[in-house]
Amino acid sequence: MVSSTKSKSHPGRRPLVVGNWKMNGTRASSVALLAALRAEEPFGSEVSVCCPYPYLADVVLSLQGSGISWGAQDCSHLDPGAHTGDVAAVMLTEFGCRYVIVGHSERRVHHAESDQRVADKARMALAHGLTPIVCVGETLDERVAMLTESIVKRQLSAVVHTLGHCVSQIVVAYEPIWAIGSGLTATPEQAQAVHSVLRAQLAAASTLAGEMRLLYGGSVTAANAHALFAQPDIDGGLVGGASLKANEFSAICRAATGAALESPGKLKT
Ligand code: PEP
Repeated sequence: MVSSTKSKSHPGRRPLVVGNWKMNGTRASSVALLAALRAEEPFGSEVSVCCPYPYLADVVLSLQGSGISWGAQDCSHLDPGAHTGDVAAVMLTEFGCRYVIVGHSERRVHHAESDQRVADKARMALAHGLTPIVCVGETLDERVAMLTESIVKRQLSAVVHTLGHCVSQIVVAYEPIWAIGSGLTATPEQAQAVHSVLRAQLAAASTLAGEMRLLYGGSVTAANAHALFAQPDIDGGLVGGASLKANEFSAICRAATGAALESPGKLKT
C-alpha cells in the first residue's frame, strides 16, 4: 500500500484540472471561453481542456503560447482505416493534444464500451504519446449495494493488465456516475476512500503509483473543489458543466493550487 501522505508531496504530482466540454458549445463560444480563460492565467496547477473534435483546430489557435493544454474526449482503439465515424489517436497528435479522456461513463453506457475496449483505447493513446485520462466509477445502485470498490477495481484492472508497468503513464479519474451532472457530489471522505483503493491497486502494478495523478469528477464546483482536492489521494479534477464558465473553472483551478500549497512539495514540477 502506498503512503498517501508521503506520495502527496511527490514532485511528480502537480495538481491537474481538466475541463470536459462534452458535446457543448459552438465554434464562437469555444473561442470566447478560451479567451476568457487565458485572461485568468496563471493558475499554478496544470490546466487542460478536452473539447469536441471539430473545435480542435480553433482550440490550438486559441491556446498555443498559453500555459493551458488541450485534448479530446475519446479516441479509437484501432489504427487508421475503414472505421467510419471514429477518430484515431494518431490524428489527435496532429493537433498537439496532450490528453484524451477514455472510458467516460457516458461512452461506457451510450456506446457500450467494455472495460477491455477502454483499456485498448488507453494503450493506443499511449502508443501515440497521448496521456489517457481513464475514467472509472459506479452507479448509485452499485454504491447502495456496496459494490463501489469491486466495480472501480474491475474497471481499472483491465487497464492495468493491458498496460503493465506503463500504467504509471496514465491519469485516472474517479467519477461516480450518480454525481455526474447531477449536482450531487461525493463527499471528500467518500471520494478519498475510493482514490485510496485505486492508488493501492496501482501500487500493486507499478512502483510509480505514488507519482500518479488521480482526479475526482462529478459536479465539482468552485464551492466544493478545495475540500475535495485537499484529500491526500486527490490530485485535481475532471470538470464537466463548470468548465463551460471561465470564472467558475478558473476558481476550481485555483482551488487545486491552494489545496496543493497546503501540501508542501506538490507544485515543484
Ligand atoms: C464529467 O462528465 O466528466 C463531469 C465530471 O461532469 P460534471 O462536472 O458536469 O458532473
